[in-house]
Amino acid sequence: MWNKIRNFFTSDIGIDLGTANTLVYLKDRGIVMREPSVVAIQEGTRRVLAVGEDAKKMLGRTPGNIIAVRPMKMGVIADIDITEKLLRHLITGVNKHKLRKPRTVIAVPGDITEVEKRAVKDSALRAGAREVFMIEEPMAAAIGTGLPVSDPTASMIVDIGGGTTDVALISLAGIVYSRSVRVGGDDMDIAIQTYMRNQYNLLIGERTAEDIKIKIGSAYKLEQELTYEVKGRDVVKGRPHTLIISSEEIREGALNEVITKIVDSVQQALENAPPELSADLVDRGLMMAGGGALLTGIDRRIAECTQLPVHLADDPLTAVAEGTGRVLDELEWLARTTTPKKK
Ligand code: ADP
Ligand code: MG
Repeated sequence: MWNKIRNFFTSDIGIDLGTANTLVYLKDRGIVMREPSVVAIQEGTRRVLAVGEDAKKMLGRTPGNIIAVRPMKMGVIADIDITEKLLRHLITGVNKHKLRKPRTVIAVPGDITEVEKRAVKDSALRAGAREVFMIEEPMAAAIGTGLPVSDPTASMIVDIGGGTTDVALISLAGIVYSRSVRVGGDDMDIAIQTYMRNQYNLLIGERTAEDIKIKIGSAYKLEQELTYEVKGRDVVKGRPHTLIISSEEIREGALNEVITKIVDSVQQALENAPPELSADLVDRGLMMAGGGALLTGIDRRIAECTQLPVHLADDPLTAVAEGTGRVLDELEWLARTTTPKKK
């Protein structure tokens, strides 16, 4: 009852500002918005023309005076001004018809600098948030996947996003070790594009490469290898061309290098774990989240390389946003670890 009355005036929101996808969680409602992290702006005036899916369609095919950008591309804030525009779009979109500005929890990449954090926080305040709480993505992902982060035991989370892979070791509600490497799902797409060009002189777009990855990409030998009919442009002949590729060559020829880097970052976190926590991990294993965790067989590959049990989040793409949602429920808990800035 009181919740309903309170929600009439304001509703707190959680935002997962990912390199590939941005999600918004509305308190007591769940995930209400899910859009690619892309903003299309007019060059001279810097006016926002489109955000999310509409803006993504413009990527790579915009006329001269429109630019489509991914403000969080590499896991850093590439353009704070555009990040602010994205935040404004999200906050006002979700909070319209409300009388009060929302309290906002924002999940940011694990390795952004204090200066960048400050900038995001200030942007969110200017964009219409009443109070802003920042949480590191690996912590949000761990909470979102239901790991017992406040227990005195070790939890390990591996979040493979579009532009980064974040690996963190958490115990007693704190991050004991965390590392963000600039490699993720986008690099798999680029590796597929490069492979097709080098091997077959075939130019393919980003979207085709992503489709190949999702349909036949893998990190571990498949019981039954698959094929894919690729359409692209032959660089030598200069005309459209179609050919058939196998899942085996995509795995060995294109994806292997990127996957090795991801596995190495997990190994490195394990090497840096304090001995007691390592001992916990032997039984508890690690949890995988992020869209990249959906690559077929990546869990098995990591399990084999680390000799640890590997669990996949129920919904890897929403783990961070779900985590911000749980934090909204316990803002008091967060208030103890960060200081909110009031305007
Ligand atoms: P971020 O948190 O950086 O925004 P996400 O967790 O949303 O990233 O993951 C986006 C990445 O996941 C993209 O590179 C996308 O291609 C990849 N992805 C999504 N679904 C799949 C799938 N089924 N198989 C492999 N990769 C996937
Ligand atoms: Mg993410």
